Amino acid sequence: MNDLTCVIIGGGHAGLAALKAIKETTGGMANGRRIRFVLFDKLPGHVRKMLLFRPAAGGEEIIVPWTHYDFSEGVKFVQATVTFVDGREKQIRYEGARGNDTSMQYDLLVVAVGSVVRQPNPDQGGISLTDLQTAAVIRERWCANLRRAVGEKNPKERKRLMTIAVAGAGISGIETSSELALEMRKEASSLGLNPSDISVYLVCGQERLFLEGPEKVGRKLDQILSECGVTVIYNRKVMREEAGVVTLNNGDRLSVGLCIWTIGLIPNPALRTMGLPLTPDGQVLVDESYRVQGAPGAYSIGDCARIVDPKTGKAALMRCAELALQDDRLAKIVVADLEGHSAPVHKSAPIDLYCIGLGENRGLVWGRKWGLNMIVTGKPAWKFRKAAWNAGSKLR
Ligand SMILES: Cc1cc2nc3c(=O)[nH]c(=O)nc-3n(C[C@H](O)[C@H](O)[C@H](O)COP(=O)(O)OP(=O)(O)OC[C@H]3O[C@@H](n4cnc5c(N)ncnc54)[C@H](O)[C@@H]3O)c2cc1C
Repeated sequence: MNDLTCVIIGGGHAGLAALKAIKETTGGMANGRRIRFVLFDKLPGHVRKMLLFRPAAGGEEIIVPWTHYDFSEGVKFVQATVTFVDGREKQIRYEGARGNDTSMQYDLLVVAVGSVVRQPNPDQGGISLTDLQTAAVIRERWCANLRRAVGEKNPKERKRLMTIAVAGAGISGIETSSELALEMRKEASSLGLNPSDISVYLVCGQERLFLEGPEKVGRKLDQILSECGVTVIYNRKVMREEAGVVTLNNGDRLSVGLCIWTIGLIPNPALRTMGLPLTPDGQVLVDESYRVQGAPGAYSIGDCARIVDPKTGKAALMRCAELALQDDRLAKIVVADLEGHSAPVHKSAPIDLYCIGLGENRGLVWGRKWGLNMIVTGKPAWKFRKAAWNAGSKLR
């Protein structure tokens, strides 16, 4: 009998997890047929997206080669951009590294093309922390600014070169600003500058941090950030950055060497032309078992899919944490569909859980179950944070 071809589009957190779960659950066989796995990604390895601030702060490598994973054995990896899915003909079209257009038939398809970082208008200045390239540019800029500060005689200009504004105070803004402040202080010391002259402003559009949880978590985060050297500016938005001046929505100005935008995620815009059914916001329309509407054999999970708990009506957020149960459930659904029995349906995670890293040995974990709050800080929270980052990228 012919092999079944299982194509996975996207080797981010969701695609990687789906590949592992389907491979392990099926053992590579279904109804007596061997399953051939093909993973498509436009990048040469798995990018640990949640750690994007790391290369921007300390220059850390966050790309994991596909071959690192045991479960990649026997999987064909194609570095290409998938441009179209023909759900009726069960065929994808993709553009290879040399711009050549090719197509491939599938029996099973997992669409996991994720999200991209939201960007301000180009005339608003600054740099968005969107990918590995912009992370490298951010690091180059602040390092160059500190080197210039060493020889700068004018104290105001020296201070400007040692100042950064981070616009957007969600979890990624909080983590970016704390790691930057700690790395910049370290670098300032090694250059003979006064580390306490480093200023990192985190501009928060709300009256407090972390609206997802109780006020005391926001207060605790503010306290830890201030220990790292980050000053949070509340109830303000960055309007633009121009020639080293950040203008806030109340007209206040900050002199900065760099302005970084961390203003959230949007579904991958490439989906708009991929031929899949979408919500008005641009997420793939799936049923309660992650099946793409009108495309037999196709499923979608992760940031790119609009997944709703049929019992509570709660939609999954664009968070890696949401994936924790989607991958194994997807594997069970695929097996059930292949064998023709009833498949599991999506259920929201039984606990609200957030973990935030605030630099080596600093962190905050908050969870809520049955209305009870649990907060962990310090080293244990940092350990938990690191474990969550590793789990998200299927690393031990
Ligand atoms: C800075 C930052 C910090 C974050 N922090 C947290 C956090 O603390 N906790 C948390 O839960 N979540 C966090 N998130 C969100 C988390 O990263 C996402 O929820 C997660 O990455 C979603 O995984 P995904 O696989 O669905 O999508 P992605 O990670 O976006 O992966 C999509 C993959 O598809 C590939 N791809 C895209 N288009 C194509 C195409 N056309 N053809 C081929 N390949 C394609 C991409 O190259 C990528 O590898 C953070 C995000 C950012 C940016």
